[in-house]
Amino acid sequence: MPSRSALAFILLLISPVPLAQPLLAQTLLAQAALPREPYGQFLRVKVNTGERSRLTVKKNWLGKRRLNPTVPILVLAGHADSQGISPGTRGYAVAVNGARPMQPGITDETFWNLKTAQRIVKLGRQRGLNIRFYDPGVRTIHNGDDPRTNWSQGKRHAQAGGYALEIHYDAYGHDGLGSGVIPRVYGGQTVIDEYLAREFGSFPWDFRGVLGAPKRGITILEVGKLEGDLENKLRNPATRDRALNTIADRVVTTMAQALDVPKPVFQMPALPTLPANRATASQQPSLPLQIPPPPAINVTR
Ligand SMILES: [Zn+2]
Repeated sequence: MPSRSALAFILLLISPVPLAQPLLAQTLLAQAALPREPYGQFLRVKVNTGERSRLTVKKNWLGKRRLNPTVPILVLAGHADSQGISPGTRGYAVAVNGARPMQPGITDETFWNLKTAQRIVKLGRQRGLNIRFYDPGVRTIHNGDDPRTNWSQGKRHAQAGGYALEIHYDAYGHDGLGSGVIPRVYGGQTVIDEYLAREFGSFPWDFRGVLGAPKRGITILEVGKLEGDLENKLRNPATRDRALNTIADRVVTTMAQALDVPKPVFQMPALPTLPANRATASQQPSLPLQIPPPPAINVTR
């Protein structure tokens, strides 16, 4: 079943009575509210996230802990509060090729951690997951236990029964180990950890003597080494948006499968929700809408 707002939208589209007075201002407003891509399309590009963690063969844990499909999920961006302390990788493009950093003052890893975490949350919410993003705002917080840090927020979230995931990109070249999950230790490994490990690869639970995040109940996901096709597709403005979609889609779909989120809730693609008074403007023929045929509905006027 489409959502109520989607139904209202479709009803308006198939309404047999044309508007007597097309309202230009409303049309412009409606166009501004629309996503850039045509409706019903979720554009992706093939992205090779590179080798899976070499330590996947040393997986010494099993994510058995079941979570409710409505479990609150908190997504964090790695290094978003530790620039100058533990800044993350600069990536191959900057460190080896001398490219300009994506944003002055933060490493490219941090930049992509933020973008990826935000996209995961945006997509996850569209599809019905109970998911949110936390940004510490301040990029350098010296005390790891300051209440504003990823660690503190993630710990509190895990203690309250939620699932916390911190997004990272691994180092390029020999320093990087590849994509994979470093599962939370506090709270025990969950089905989400297990499914993500199947999708991306994994690290032992006690990797580097248990890292600060897993110790506090936060699972780390290394998307891939920041180099090669992955980094190029992200850096190239022509493919960036689609690459972020592709990565976010993998994460969100895997989490929804792990949680066994019912199909009618987990929708793809989602229709954007427009306020009713603006949706009328969709009757203007100038909008290139691609909408599947409407379901049989008795339209009474
Ligand atoms: Zn990192």
